[in-house]
Amino acid sequence: MVNKTILVVEDEVLVARDIQSRLTRMGYEVLSIASRGKEAITKALDLRPDLILMDINLRDEMDGVEAAVQIRLSYDVPIIFCTAYSNDETLERAKISDPYGYVLKPFDNRELEINIEIALYKHRTEKDLSATRRRLDATLTNVSDGVIAADLSGEVYVVNPVAERITGCCRQKASLMKLRDIMKLECFEPGQKSVDFSESLAYLNEHVTGMRQYLIKDNGVRVPIELSVNILDENLSNLIVITFRDISQQLSYEETIRKNAFFDDLTELPNRSLFVDRLDSSLNRRKRDRKPEDFAVLFLDLDGFGVINDGLGHDQGDALITEIGLRIINTVRPDDTVSRFSGDIFAILLDPVEGVTGAITACQRILQSIEEPIELGGTVVNIAASVGIVLNHGNYRTGDEMIRDADNALHRAKLDSKGGYVIFDNEMYRDAKKYLDRKSGMQQALLDSTFEVYYQPIVDTYTGVLTSMEALVRWPHPVEGMVSPAEFIPIAEETGLILPLGEWVLRSVCNQIKDWNDSGFDDFRVAVNLSARQFENNIPGLIGGILDETNIDHSSLGLEITEGVAMRDVEHIIRMLEELKDLGLNISIDDFGTGYSSLAYLKRFPLNTLKIDRSFIMDITDNPDDREITKAIIGMGQNLNLKVLAEGVETSSQLEILRRNGCDFIQGYYYSKPLPATEILPFLSNRQLIGERRLELIA
Ligand code: C2E
Ligand code: CA
Ligand code: CA
Repeated sequence: MVNKTILVVEDEVLVARDIQSRLTRMGYEVLSIASRGKEAITKALDLRPDLILMDINLRDEMDGVEAAVQIRLSYDVPIIFCTAYSNDETLERAKISDPYGYVLKPFDNRELEINIEIALYKHRTEKDLSATRRRLDATLTNVSDGVIAADLSGEVYVVNPVAERITGCCRQKASLMKLRDIMKLECFEPGQKSVDFSESLAYLNEHVTGMRQYLIKDNGVRVPIELSVNILDENLSNLIVITFRDISQQLSYEETIRKNAFFDDLTELPNRSLFVDRLDSSLNRRKRDRKPEDFAVLFLDLDGFGVINDGLGHDQGDALITEIGLRIINTVRPDDTVSRFSGDIFAILLDPVEGVTGAITACQRILQSIEEPIELGGTVVNIAASVGIVLNHGNYRTGDEMIRDADNALHRAKLDSKGGYVIFDNEMYRDAKKYLDRKSGMQQALLDSTFEVYYQPIVDTYTGVLTSMEALVRWPHPVEGMVSPAEFIPIAEETGLILPLGEWVLRSVCNQIKDWNDSGFDDFRVAVNLSARQFENNIPGLIGGILDETNIDHSSLGLEITEGVAMRDVEHIIRMLEELKDLGLNISIDDFGTGYSSLAYLKRFPLNTLKIDRSFIMDITDNPDDREITKAIIGMGQNLNLKVLAEGVETSSQLEILRRNGCDFIQGYYYSKPLPATEILPFLSNRQLIGERRLELIA
C-alpha cells in the first residue's frame, strides 16, 4: 500500500522535526516542512500532499488559517489544524477553511493518528459523494424524461431540466413549492382516475406506470404527459420519484396512425375497419338498451364507373369518387356514417332510421343526389348507383353479418336494374313496398278521381223505413280490384292523404244528396266518417263551404266520429263539433263501446246519435254478456236523449233482440250491404219495401 503523503506546516523547527519523525514512524510520508504561510501555499500546490498538518500560529503576516483558506481555493485537500493555544476568535476563523480536524499541542501519537485517519476518510467519502452527485446531476440533466423527487410531505428535492421545461417551473422556484403545486394533474380520458398529489401522499402506496394524464401548467396550458410514480422507502424516509414525458408529439403521431388505419386516403371518409367498428357498436347498443329502434346499412356501388375511369383517366375517376362521397355525406344526417370500402363501393350506416320506409326514403335521396350531373374537368358526366339495403331485425350478432346481407342485396340490385335498390329482408321489404305503393296509388287515384262512395241504408227499427245512410269510401284498384278502406284509410291517415281524400268524400256525398234531391228524393240523411286529422284543420269552415256550394239542406248531412277521435284533444274537438252542430249537422259517435269512454264523459260532447259497435251485435244472440251490455248502452243513450243505432246487424234474431230493447235504428247486411249510389235508388223510391221485408221476417 502506498503511504499517505503529508505536508507539515510548523514554524518551530524542533516541533516540526518531532512531528515529522512521529509521522514517519506511523507510516506516513512527510513530503516537506513549511514554516511560513506563503511557503505552505507554494509547497501544497507543488507537492499535492494527501493531507496538511497546519500550525495556526505562524510567525508571519499570514497565519495558518489564512494559508489553509488560500490552499483550499485551488486544491481540495484535508487540513488538520494544530495549535498550542486557541482563542474563540481563532477557532471561529478556522471554521471557514472547512477544517478536517483540530489537535491541541502537545498531542500524543494516538490522538494525532486518529485525527489524520478520520480526516483522510472523511475527505475520501466527500470526494466520492461529490463525484456521485456530479454523475447523478449529469444523468438527470441528460435523461429525456422529466424527473421530480419529493418526500411524503410534498417537499420537492429534485427537479431535472426536462421537468423544468415541461412544468414551466424552475428548480429554485420548485424547491419553495409543494409537489401538488407543480404536478397539478387532470385525467386524460373521461372516466379515468387521475393521480392526485394534493391528497396525503402517504396514500400513494401504489406505483403508477405509464399513465396518461394532463399536466396543468401555471398559465393554464394543458400538457399531455405519460407518468410513472415510484415510492422508494429506503432508509425509512419515503421518497416519491415521478418520471414523466410530454406526449403531445406522440399523440399527434398516434392521430396520424389512427387516421391512416381508419380513414380512406382519397375521400378521408371512414374506411371499412372504422365502419365495422361503428356498426358493431350500433348492434351492441341495441343489445344493451333492448331498444327496438331500427338502423340500416346501405351498400352502394356506382353503375358503370369503370367506363368513366378508363375514359377520363384515373385522376378524374378519383375526383368523381370524392364528389360522390361528399354528396352522400350532405344527404344523410350528421350522426350517420358514410364510408368508402374500396373502389367505387360506399357503405352507409343510418342510425337511427325510421324503419324500412325511412331507409328507403334516405336511399332515394342519396340516389337522387348521385344522379345530378357531375362536372369533371370540363366534361359533364351522369352516373347512377345501385344500393343494397339491410335493416337490423334484432338477430344480427356482428356487423359483418349485416354487411354480408347488404352485399347480397346489392348484387340483386345490380342484376334487377341499374339505378335502383333492393332490400335484403323479404318480409319487411314487402310491407314497406306495399305502404309506399299504397301511398302513391292513392295519390294517383285522387288525381284520377277513381275513388267511389258506397252508401249503406240505415233503417228505423219500428217503421222499417230508410231514414239515413252511411257513406263509405271505396277504392277500385286497377290491378287488385276493390281495396278495403280498413286497409287504406290508416295509411291515408298516416301520410296525411286523408285530408284531400276526406274532402273529396264530403264533396261527393253532398253532390250526391243534391242529385237525389233534384230527382225528387229528400227526407233522408247521409253520414260521413271523419278522421282525427281532419280536425287539425278548420273542418267546420270546409263543410260550411261545401254545403254552400251544393246548396243542400244542412240537416241532410251527418258526421260520424269514433270514440278514439273524441278522446284525443277533447276541448278542441268539442269546440269544433259545436260549430258543426250549429250548422245543423247530425253528429254520431261511432264504434261505441270499444274506446272505454263513459257515457257521462261523452255528455260534454254535442251528440245526436250513438252507434253501438258491431263487435257487440255480432254475438248478441249467443253471448248474454254482450246482450246485457247492448241493453245497458241503449238504456243509457236514451237517458242522455241520444238516438241509438246498432251497426253490423246481419240476422233477424239480432234485429229482434235490438228491437225488444228499444234500439232506434238498424244498419247492416240484414237489410243491405253498402251499395253504389245508383243501386240505392230503389231503396229511396220504394222505402216501404225495406219495412215490408222486416215485417215479413218478424211475422
Ligand atoms: P265503420 O265506420 O265502422 O264502417 C262500418 C263498416 O262495417 C263498413 O266497412 C261496412 O261495410 C261494414 N259493415 C256494415 N254492415 C255490416 C254487417 O252487417 N256485417 C259486417 N261484417 N260488416 C258490415 P268498410 O266499408 O270496409 O269500412 C271500414 C272502415 O273504414 C269504416 O268503419 C270506417 O272507419 C272507415 N271508412 C270508410 N269510409 C271512410 C271515409 O270516407 N272516411 C273515413 N275517415 N273513414 C272511412
Ligand atoms: Ca262509421
Ligand atoms: Ca262503425
